[in-house]
Amino acid sequence: MADQETIARAAQLMRAGELVGFPTETVYGLGGDATNEGAVARIFAAKGRPHFNPLIVHVPALAEAEALARFDERARLAARRFWPGPLSLVLPRRADSRLSLLASAGLDTVALRAPAHPIAQALLRAAGRPIAAPSANRSGRISPTTAAHVADELGDSVALILDDGPCPVGIESTVLDLTGAMPALLRPGGVPLEQLAEVFGEIETIVPDDGAPRAPGRLASHYAPDLPLRLAATDPRPGEALLAFGPAAAAGFAEVLWLSRRGALAEAAANLFAMLRRLDRPEFTGIAVTAIPEEGLGRAINDRLRRAAAPRSIG
Ligand code: AMP
Ligand code: MG
Repeated sequence: MADQETIARAAQLMRAGELVGFPTETVYGLGGDATNEGAVARIFAAKGRPHFNPLIVHVPALAEAEALARFDERARLAARRFWPGPLSLVLPRRADSRLSLLASAGLDTVALRAPAHPIAQALLRAAGRPIAAPSANRSGRISPTTAAHVADELGDSVALILDDGPCPVGIESTVLDLTGAMPALLRPGGVPLEQLAEVFGEIETIVPDDGAPRAPGRLASHYAPDLPLRLAATDPRPGEALLAFGPAAAAGFAEVLWLSRRGALAEAAANLFAMLRRLDRPEFTGIAVTAIPEEGLGRAINDRLRRAAAPRSIG
């Protein structure tokens, strides 16, 4: 478990170039010193992540972030309003930042986030340096929302895993690009688009899978279970399991898990990845999911489900 002593040890391990699994409010992260090229290379290797896909760098707060990227008034407003929290900001990288070039995949921009989770906060403060942390899963697979998921996926690659139970948000951060004239949503996530629009007005939404190198993490197939996934399902097919939302008809499915019986999107987001894992068993022929409204956190949930259902280009 994540007591003070274990957090201090985890921070020390990362300062020595090791990798640590730790909880954030979104999903569990695979953390390494973002100023250490070797540690960052180990993150890519552990995940089997393509090197063109940059990592999010984690800091405790705006003050530490300003040493890494150039903040204008709009970026400061975003940080003041949404940090600490599930929002990653893509900003111009400062030349004197000491950040690993590999961490941002050679781009002249960097994605920064200050997570709200108390264990993540304590760890970042104890480490005293920026921490690169993608989700602690093998590339392309379902993101981890418990310490056990991290152990299953990457147990051999981490020196230690901090365990603080399930992640409260359960879905990755929203990625907002603030390098252009208009703020651009690169990935829907824990901060709903509606909340960003209240602060920024118009926001460009980058169409998923347009292949933009700006957002190389948005690969068509991602978050994928082994079983095929069928979206907006209504009627059962033989041997299928169901992931249900709201007042869905669940009769005839081989097994049913409820993302949220009362139709609450926050509850559904928190349950999504763990339930996908639980249903991803060879005894079923596939996983059907009922339709989820495309609003608020529903955008992020649907984004992940569409990628999980997409044809797999790589194994
Ligand atoms: P993950 O670490 O797996 O949660 O994914 C990180 C997300 O942030 C991916 O979608 C990346 O493409 C995105 N990202 C990280 N750094 C940058 C950057 N410099 N520019 C654009 N997107 C970025
Ligand atoms: Mg990920």
